[in-house]
Amino acid sequence: MPSLWQGFYLDGRSATRHPVSIQLTTAALHIVKADGHTIRWPYSEIVQTHGAYEGEQIRLEYGAPLPQTVILQDSTFLAAIQQISGSSATPFHNPRQRPLRLRLTILAGMVLLGMMGGFYMWGIPGLAKLVAPHIPVSWEEQLGMSVLEQIAPSEKRCVDQTRLAALESIVARLSRAVPDSPYRIRLTVVNRPTVNAFALPGGQVVVFRGLLEATETPEQFASVLAHELQHIYKQHSTRSLIEQASTSLLIAAATGDFTGGVAYGIEGARVLGVLRYSRLHEGEADREGLRLLQAVGIDPAEMVAFYQIMQAQHPHDDAASSYLSTHPDTSDRIEKLTALAVAPPPHPVKLFSLEEWKELRSLCQHSVASSPHAAMDSSQ
Ligand SMILES: [Zn+2]
Repeated sequence: MPSLWQGFYLDGRSATRHPVSIQLTTAALHIVKADGHTIRWPYSEIVQTHGAYEGEQIRLEYGAPLPQTVILQDSTFLAAIQQISGSSATPFHNPRQRPLRLRLTILAGMVLLGMMGGFYMWGIPGLAKLVAPHIPVSWEEQLGMSVLEQIAPSEKRCVDQTRLAALESIVARLSRAVPDSPYRIRLTVVNRPTVNAFALPGGQVVVFRGLLEATETPEQFASVLAHELQHIYKQHSTRSLIEQASTSLLIAAATGDFTGGVAYGIEGARVLGVLRYSRLHEGEADREGLRLLQAVGIDPAEMVAFYQIMQAQHPHDDAASSYLSTHPDTSDRIEKLTALAVAPPPHPVKLFSLEEWKELRSLCQHSVASSPHAAMDSSQ
């Protein structure tokens, strides 16, 4: 490996390229001009702006606001600087990490190219709609799981086995009516007083204790589930996440930093935590959810009844109910659903008696996941 490299030096004030030789010492880069004058740059203050890719020119900058620049072509330089400068070499690209970085960049680049074309033609929501059906279900599941861990940490879950199994039987009854769906629906009940429920990509339905206890009948609970299931089946949560991630990717493209891949997920999780769907998606989840209720023989009027309870508790559509804040325009929805729910099934299904339901909806008073039992349950 050479100990001396040839390159060019620009002083930041003029465009003149001075041919220089470059030496590496343990603490600093030495730039030796033709007249013998030596400029010393401590490694910790150097910024590498180019040369992260095989064959690309290496460009180093030093100082502000008009940085001095060194340009060189020799690919052995980066490996040498890593070797000689040890811990102070962090500002420099390590060629040994190239394969991973390259793959990430190619992936991001492909997504970005597609996005730019898609963004131009359809805007980000249109693009998300287009991309979502091509995302493998296993990716959606992993995404949903990682968000679930954040929103519903295992110690916050209500896990009383008997009552939870009864609630899961309602989920199973609904999901059996959509046999060709690739998603396996899982229910998590969280021990929080908030009145809310939401769906995560890949099949996770999360219900907060506050909502469970606000339902008067098991069929009302089923109607909330039917609505959330449609957010999963129609990939609303996945699409919403893609929309958020696209924004992060565009920022990454602008800053050139594609290595923060993990950060996208965290950002997505934060966004899903306060998930709001478009009015269009909410309308679809209502309509399709209502059809799902009809398909399993539950009177769709139960869905209307639940919205009426929500509206009566929070007549001003205020944010006191999280469910209403993520499901706005309650009056309008009640009106539309009432029109759709005109024909009750001749023998509406009763999932449980009202007595049984009082008992079942008290799930969270009987168990939170802090018992030794619970730790077992949550790992299942
Ligand atoms: Zn919804």
